[in-house]
Parts: sequence; C-alpha cells; structure tokens
Amino acid sequence: MNMYNPKSTIATEFISDSEIRSTMQYARENSGNVALADSILDKARDFKGITHREAALLLECNDPGIVQRIYALANEIKHRFYGNRIVMFAPLYLSNYCVNGCVYCPYHAKNKNIRRKKLTQDEIRAEVVALQDMGHKRLAIEAGEHPLMNPIEYILESINTIYNIKHKNGAIRRVNVNIAATTVENYRRLRDAGIGTYILFQETYNKENYEALHPTGPKKDYAWHTEAMDRAMQGGIDDVGIGVLFGLETYRYDFVGLLMHAEHLEATYGVGPHTISVPRLCKADDIDTDNFENAVPDDIFFKIVAIIRIAVPYTGMIISTRESAKSRERLLELGISQISGGSRTSVGGYVTEETPDENSAQFDIADHRTLDEVVAWLLDLNHIPSFCTACYREGRTGDRFMTLLKNGQISNCCLPNALITLKEYIRDYASPATREKGEAMIKRMLADIPNERARAKAAEYLDRIDNGERDFRF
Ligand code: SAM
Repeated sequence: MNMYNPKSTIATEFISDSEIRSTMQYARENSGNVALADSILDKARDFKGITHREAALLLECNDPGIVQRIYALANEIKHRFYGNRIVMFAPLYLSNYCVNGCVYCPYHAKNKNIRRKKLTQDEIRAEVVALQDMGHKRLAIEAGEHPLMNPIEYILESINTIYNIKHKNGAIRRVNVNIAATTVENYRRLRDAGIGTYILFQETYNKENYEALHPTGPKKDYAWHTEAMDRAMQGGIDDVGIGVLFGLETYRYDFVGLLMHAEHLEATYGVGPHTISVPRLCKADDIDTDNFENAVPDDIFFKIVAIIRIAVPYTGMIISTRESAKSRERLLELGISQISGGSRTSVGGYVTEETPDENSAQFDIADHRTLDEVVAWLLDLNHIPSFCTACYREGRTGDRFMTLLKNGQISNCCLPNALITLKEYIRDYASPATREKGEAMIKRMLADIPNERARAKAAEYLDRIDNGERDFRF
C-alpha cells in the first residue's frame, strides 16, 4: 500500500487509493453530524478553501439546512472572486485520429463507424475565421492521441497558424490546449508556442477502473497520465486545467481524487490548478451511456460543483455544452466561471454541417444555441460575458495570477477587461437585440469598477472602441 504524500510526484502517493477510501469512510460515518458540517462551513467563510476530507463530508451530508448553506456560500465565493463575469470560449477539434482504446470515447481506435478527419492548416484557417466571425477570442484545441497523425509538430504548427490569423477585427488571443499527456520537453515546446492553459482530464482517479477503461494505447499508463501535470509544471507551464469525466467511476471517489490532485499541485508547486472542468459522460457515436452505471444525477452534480467552488475558491471552473441550457443556468450560480458557446465537437464543424452518416463528433452536445444566443441569455441573467484574455498576455499566470486573485486586486483589472471585451463583441458581432442588452450592462457595471482611475481609463477605452480601435487591456 502506498503512503499518502501530497508532495510526492508519484501518482499513487499523491492520489493515494487508501486515503481516498478512508476519506469516503470518514464522510459516511460523519454524514449525520450536522454540527461538524456547520463548523466546516464556518471555517470556509475565510475563503481560503477546505480540505478533501472536509469537502467529502459536506458532500455526504444531506441535512437541508447544510445543503442550503453550501449553495449560498458557493454563490458568495463565486461573486467575491469572479463577480458576475463569465469567460467565453470555444473548443476547436483538430483531429480525431486516435490510437487509444478508451471505452467511453468514440475516437477509440477500433471505432470504424466514425469518420476520421484531420484538419490541414488551410482548413484550420477556415475554422478559425468562422470562430472569429462568431466573436470568439479564446479557443481550446482538442485532438485525439496519434503519434503519427497528430505529432507535437502538428499541434505546434496549428497553434502558430491560429495565432496568426488576422481577419477583420477578429483575433484568437488565447489558445488553451487539450491533448494527451506528453513529455516535459513537449510541454516546454507548448509553453514556448504561447499556449494559455494546458488541460488534461484525468477521466477517473481510480487506478483499477482507469486501467479497465483504457485497455489499449499509451493512455492506459495510469502513472504517465496522472503525473502529466507535474511534467507540464516542470516544462514551465504554470496554468494547468484538471477535471474528471463524471459517470465513469463513483462520483464520491473521483470528487475526492480531484481535490487531492488540486492539493498536490498547490503543495508541490505553490500554485493550484488554474481551472477545473466538470464534464459528465455523454452519448456519442458508438457509446451508449446506459452501459455506464455511475451516471451522476443533476442534484448531486450541482452539489459537487458547489463544494468544489468552496474547496478551491481561486480556481476557475468550466462547464461545456455537454450540459443543457437549464443545468448551465443553475451551475452559473454555484461557481462556474467559464463556459463555451456555439460549440461544435466535430472536426471541421464550424465550416461544414455534417450529415448523420458522416459523423466525426466526439460527443452529442446538449446546448445547441449560437454564441449570440448564449451571450444574450447571460446578459438576461445578469452575468457579464467576458472575452478577456489579458492576464496571460500580461504575464499574470501561475502564482502571479493567484496572488492577485487572493488579495482582491484582480477586480480592478477583470471587470474593466470584461467590459471592454464585451464592448468589442457587441460592436463587431452581436445581433441588434444582444447589442442593446450589452450596452445596458456596460453602462450599469462601469460604475462598479472600484478604483477611480481604472474606471476613467475603462470609460476612455470604451469610447475608443466605439471609434474603431481594438484590443485594449488592463
Ligand atoms: N485525447 C486527449 C486525451 O487523451 O486526454 C484529450 C482530448 S479529448 C478530445 C477531451 C475529453 O473529452 C476527454 O478527456 C474526455 O474526458 C472527454 N470525453 C471523451 N468521451 C466523452 C463522452 N462520451 N462524453 C463526454 N466527454 C467525453
């Protein structure tokens, strides 16, 4: 049995199976202890987070008063650190060639049904122009794992292509990367290519189940996959995004594992994950979700998101179009700070609408609205859709970003940046109705910028955007 050591760089030590199981047992045994749950929530009011054990206990506690307190505190933390801003992004699928055997993913090598596609650099240009014409500024590039078809050189060339497309007022200013676990040297090359966040979902932290779910291909190596963020950090990438695919394993196990991973990164590198994603398993080409017995129901899923928000207050939380508009609306209140909009999960899907028999998509999405519809909906719900990419372009990454967030200084950059990038969006891409809602939001929120000089500067930038200039930032 491996000793639990959050500072170890050995997967089975910082994600110790015995620590997860004893945490689950502790939470079960104390689930009726309302006073204990209350004391954890009292402690969480210092906004410094709670441990995986404390979080597991809250998750297990079904006392209605405690559940209400969890939701209220998650909402408060969200507003304290992120205000009502929601960062917008879109996925860009480069290639679905894959040598792995992941049993939940239609990209698995044995799937002969799905159409295999890899975008050429010209096709990437066309996709990116389509994304820019929607108004996107931030992408997450996605690819299957295939050393011959999708080598690191292809990914690097694609990133370079994406950053260099200048079309009308459009620009992709931040490229996040979601590709398979790789070497320190390759992470260094990704960093040098100017990526934003390196994102890799653990899928499940349960080693035995992980190995069963990944029977073939390089991804089957649990240690290689679980230690990827350590290698990314060693390669100089200090913004990393973690997540599990809820539905593969019991949510209790992966919830604890996810928080232990965050604790490990904080303990070892002094900076926790930049983002946490909370995807739930979806139906896909040859994947039937009925074959997976660990589906997470909505009420538990909402509670999971709220407790993650409380446990790691400084970490951005991402929800994709795997979730419906209705569940996204609820999740925005519980801590989500980034969402995708107008997404396509097929390779080349922003340019070409696929017919059902030429499906190349990774999974079926639940939110089919256009970006303009999502933006209008956010504005109606009193959220500010933000197309901001300033922090990473100003070198505010890793612990520099976290320090600013923790001491509250970020509010004098984030709010003005959100407003000026929303202004760009509504000037260049919004429908008339969305534009009207956006102008009203900007007018209302400008007054909320705490620092007087920042407020005046933001007002100046907003005017200059009206007069045709672009790309200001704090
Ligand atoms: N190939 C890369 C890797 O090995 O991690 C990552 C890219 S993959 C395009 C992005 C993520 O989609 C996977 O990490 C997985 O969690 C998720 N995914 C795969 N199949 C899914 C499904 N059926 N429903 C929802 N999400 C799925």
